[in-house]
Amino acid sequence: MITVTDPVDLARALIQCRSVTPAEGGALTLLQSVLEPLGFVCERVVFSEPGTPDIDNLYARRGTSKPNLCFAGHTDVVPPGDLDAWSCDPFAAVVRDGVLFGRGAVDMKGAIACFVAAAARRIAAGDDAGSLSLLITGDEEGPSINGTVKVLQWLKERGETIDAAIVGEPSNPEALGDEIKIGRRGSVTGELVVHGVQGHAAYPQRADNPVPKLAHFISRLMGTLIDEGTRHFEPSNCQVTVVSVPNTAANVIPAFAKATFNIRYNDIWRRPTIEEWVRLQCEAAALATGARYDISFSGTGDVFLTGAGPLVDTLTRAVAAVTGRTPKLSTSGGTSDARFIKDIAPVVEFGLVNSTIHQVDERVPLADLEQLTRIYERFIADFKGGSARA
Ligand SMILES: [Zn+2]
Repeated sequence: MITVTDPVDLARALIQCRSVTPAEGGALTLLQSVLEPLGFVCERVVFSEPGTPDIDNLYARRGTSKPNLCFAGHTDVVPPGDLDAWSCDPFAAVVRDGVLFGRGAVDMKGAIACFVAAAARRIAAGDDAGSLSLLITGDEEGPSINGTVKVLQWLKERGETIDAAIVGEPSNPEALGDEIKIGRRGSVTGELVVHGVQGHAAYPQRADNPVPKLAHFISRLMGTLIDEGTRHFEPSNCQVTVVSVPNTAANVIPAFAKATFNIRYNDIWRRPTIEEWVRLQCEAAALATGARYDISFSGTGDVFLTGAGPLVDTLTRAVAAVTGRTPKLSTSGGTSDARFIKDIAPVVEFGLVNSTIHQVDERVPLADLEQLTRIYERFIADFKGGSARA
């Protein structure tokens, strides 16, 4: 039997589920089995798409009134990697010297356990204000196609509304209380092809080498200041990540050369305007070199910022009350499912300390699990109470 008010007990049981993406591994079934006795109505939705694995997802809600405060997270984990490098079995949920070891301990089965424990404690205390929900996917670490984005669509079609969301991703760099994520930079990937004319290396006048032209494009893209950052965001940044000239012969000038680059952009930009910035740089490079080129873009994470308001304020106060520290409001780091949730509700991210995520010996101090549970408890009480009064 799992003691649902104890985050350690539930975190250990979740870690023991081998839910490496895309496997459900029993993790959602386990969550459902602890949420239903607490009064949550649980629904499981499986989404598929050709070329990607089917993914099991869970939406659970307790209560029917507003506000609906939603915790979003994922039970899937990245593979353990080199088993010999671990000091213990990554799925055994070993506790040693007050520290819980296991894949997903921090990212993010631990935080899910904390939220469920916090909800269970509030329910035991007779808190029935508003609604609490959990949106848990099995596809965050994978392609993220059959996960949160489709669950949100499914909720929308059913007329379900979420008033605010907290994502339990590990947001703290060093210690619990360091940072609340209130937004993320956008991410766009560009694929650039510069065309030339193939020919013999000995007769360059009859060919047109695209390689030096591509080099010019690259230095233009990486050497031009995009912006200087904003109040909550770092400067936007372009990194060329792949350069390729598909050519195996040293005496042949190639017909084309390609580069892939990734831009992390701040709230000065939106996806269409940052694409426009790239096109302007390419036009300038094309003019200078006489090159013909093609450019295409991919990536789904547009920039977002959750401004000051009850959600950020309530969470900041809860973190400060429990940890004694004032969290920094941050927008750094990679993308998360918050990039999808922001389209339907204000969203923030706060979870455990991220120093061991995706590593061997991923681990969390038991004290952190208890402290995060208390933060979530206070946050739930204050947010629902405050909104209900408002
Ligand atoms: Zn995660």
